[in-house]
Amino acid sequence: MTSEGANGTGGVVYLVGCGPGDRGLVTERAVELVASADAILYDRLVPRSLLALAPPQCELVYVGKLPGRPTLPQEEINAELVARGRAGQRVVRLKGGDPFVFGRGGEEAEALAAAGVPFEVVPGVTAGIAAPAYAGIPVTHRAEASAVAFVTAHEDPRKGESALDWRALARFPGTLVFYMGVSRLAAVSERLRAEGRSPDEPCAVVADGTRATQRTVTGTLATIAERVVAAGLQPPAVLVVGAVCALRDRLAWAERRPLHGAVVVVTRARPQQSALARRLRALGAEVVEAPAIRIRPLPTPPELATIERFGLVCLTSPNGARLLVDGLLAQGRDARALARTQIAAIGPGTAAALAERGLRADIVAERFVAEGLVEALSDVEVADRDVLIARAAEARDTLVEALAARGARVTVAPLYETVHEPLPDYARDDLERATYITFTASSTVRSFLAGGGTVPQGARVVSIGPITTAALREAGIAVDVEASRHDIDGLVEALVADARARRAVA
Ligand code: SAH
Repeated sequence: MTSEGANGTGGVVYLVGCGPGDRGLVTERAVELVASADAILYDRLVPRSLLALAPPQCELVYVGKLPGRPTLPQEEINAELVARGRAGQRVVRLKGGDPFVFGRGGEEAEALAAAGVPFEVVPGVTAGIAAPAYAGIPVTHRAEASAVAFVTAHEDPRKGESALDWRALARFPGTLVFYMGVSRLAAVSERLRAEGRSPDEPCAVVADGTRATQRTVTGTLATIAERVVAAGLQPPAVLVVGAVCALRDRLAWAERRPLHGAVVVVTRARPQQSALARRLRALGAEVVEAPAIRIRPLPTPPELATIERFGLVCLTSPNGARLLVDGLLAQGRDARALARTQIAAIGPGTAAALAERGLRADIVAERFVAEGLVEALSDVEVADRDVLIARAAEARDTLVEALAARGARVTVAPLYETVHEPLPDYARDDLERATYITFTASSTVRSFLAGGGTVPQGARVVSIGPITTAALREAGIAVDVEASRHDIDGLVEALVADARARRAVA
């Protein structure tokens, strides 16, 4: 039996860990639950791109710390979870790391159990393992450490009664990992030495672990505190004490990736977002998805019913390609309707979307702009032929005009429109950390601005090509980097080259 319906209302509360920050460390179960939640109560350290997956009608409730405002008392969070569960909601309580590791998930589960509200727990990757791992420090090692202890040191160890047995910790035969405020560091290292831990023991502090902004400082129990202050590390951070820290010299990997340190805003229509975001993340960047526009499919255009009469069909975006085939399928037909039609695609992305649906483009433009497609079609006889251009409702007429001028009978079939979306609140604080912002189409520039988006201070502006650059300039935005190949690969290449050049200067 599942827990659903056990209280007669169908309400379930899920205590979900979502890892230490890297979006890739969120479990599949967490994604699935977020995507079907009625309400999400979330903390400060949860990846914002995860929240972007919540259904449109889902309530997003921030219950974490805010500057100048006291944290919501735990009892109030417990009461809120119980009330919503009783009201029949599917509630996701999202927490950084693992919900049962210093996350007060235990208390929330107790409150739910006492109230008879069904709940489930979804473990997450805890910061005490993940941050060291991304810094090149294995918390256990066959030769160096056969045990590991996770310790919370948010309280001041010099203050009165400590919940911790410091003497036992100092003697612990293995790695110590402290979850702690950076300001506690001096007191913790002092206390461990006072209780007999060697001042020469290797130590590391990993701040902002697993994120692009991760920074690591190493030293010994005697030197770590002052080094961390000198480096200006900010929370959240973990302190690792143990011989395993010395392995970092050889094993550090995350901080060496080409886009480590880059926080990149991706402004795209949602359905196309993931490819660029995935590429950037694989290179070590942190991606902030700011969905500026959304694709809204239009009713299937009547031209699709007689698509056989067109000698040439032009597709100007991956969305157009998908919606064209989906439109045929919706009419009870399939790709065979295009058996005798030539197909032209504006670029490799569009060709790939066609291939996904079982169609091969006869002509693929090399330059990812309407002019590129016009060029690619220059050898194709179009005079007196019926040509269908399947595309967005609002688009430039370059292609239509160029083909009409060559004597083609051109019909435009609008398959979708792009709708402006204001930036969600949760995206705003991440935007402030951005070091790059990318634009992949002139329409995205306009809707990003229309949705209230502004270029974050200090972020470098990256454009996919000249038309997008012109749209940015028109809006008074200076472009720092323009891709020389006008597709996703070209944009990523340009961004990596810029990041490398800037690192070399720094
Ligand atoms: N439940 C969380 C821990 C919550 S307590 C987990 O399992 O990870 C919060 C503490 O976790 C912070 O003070 C810090 O010590 C640590 N922490 C959380 N995220 C971190 C990160 N990305 N890098 C380093 N430490 C982190």
